[in-house]
Amino acid sequence: MRMLLAGNWKMNGLRASLAEIRALTRGLVETPPRGDILVCLPATLIAEAAKAAEGGAVAIGGQDCHPLPSGAFTGDISAEMLRDAGATAVILGHSERRLYHGETDSLISAKVKAACRAGLTAILCVGESQAQREQGRAARVVAAQLEASVPAEIAASDLVVAYEPIWAIGTGKTPRAAEIAQMHEAVRALLTVRFGAEGAEIRILYGGSVKPENAAEILGVSNVDGALIGGASVKAADFLAIIRAAPAR
Ligand code: PEP
Repeated sequence: MRMLLAGNWKMNGLRASLAEIRALTRGLVETPPRGDILVCLPATLIAEAAKAAEGGAVAIGGQDCHPLPSGAFTGDISAEMLRDAGATAVILGHSERRLYHGETDSLISAKVKAACRAGLTAILCVGESQAQREQGRAARVVAAQLEASVPAEIAASDLVVAYEPIWAIGTGKTPRAAEIAQMHEAVRALLTVRFGAEGAEIRILYGGSVKPENAAEILGVSNVDGALIGGASVKAADFLAIIRAAPAR
């Protein structure tokens, strides 16, 4: 399956930072990527980035959406609005949204449904905390998140799952390759139960401190179909190094 390498700029980037999107696009002309490339930007940059990236290998995504298409929800942005601005995907249920905005699995499920309704790929994030891993509950936590946040009605082709252990995000720590393999295999099994044969085609990304130095090893793990990359996606040079480290599939 073709890998997906997705950047998450989080709350970083002004219009001047779009130079990085242009540099990334140029870099991918020189070395065409082996996978699909996506950068999920702050909402303020999506329309201009989509224009800057037009015709190139970089797709643009959002980082959150409201469950409804429109309405009296001051400050919120709908999936349809992201799509209209030029996004093709949206990150949902990121641990920072769960933590700082109190997002629950049922809200995230409604957002995944909204993304699919609007024609966006939903990148659903799941992952355990350090304490949950130490208590031996990582697999159960991730299974419960998936169970409750993947809506019944969606097509497998609209969904990407990102396994992001919370303790690995922005910390420089990563699980061992065997631990990543074990979790991705468990996620694959759950997706296959839910979607049948099509569950085998859903991309499962790893996220958490992916850097140019560890990308080749992590992307070589079985059932790792790409990565969600935070800090190292903001600079085109770092993101390009990760993209170039991806093994051929
Ligand atoms: C993320 O924000 O989804 C993430 C994986 O961040 P980082 O790569 O910086 O750990």
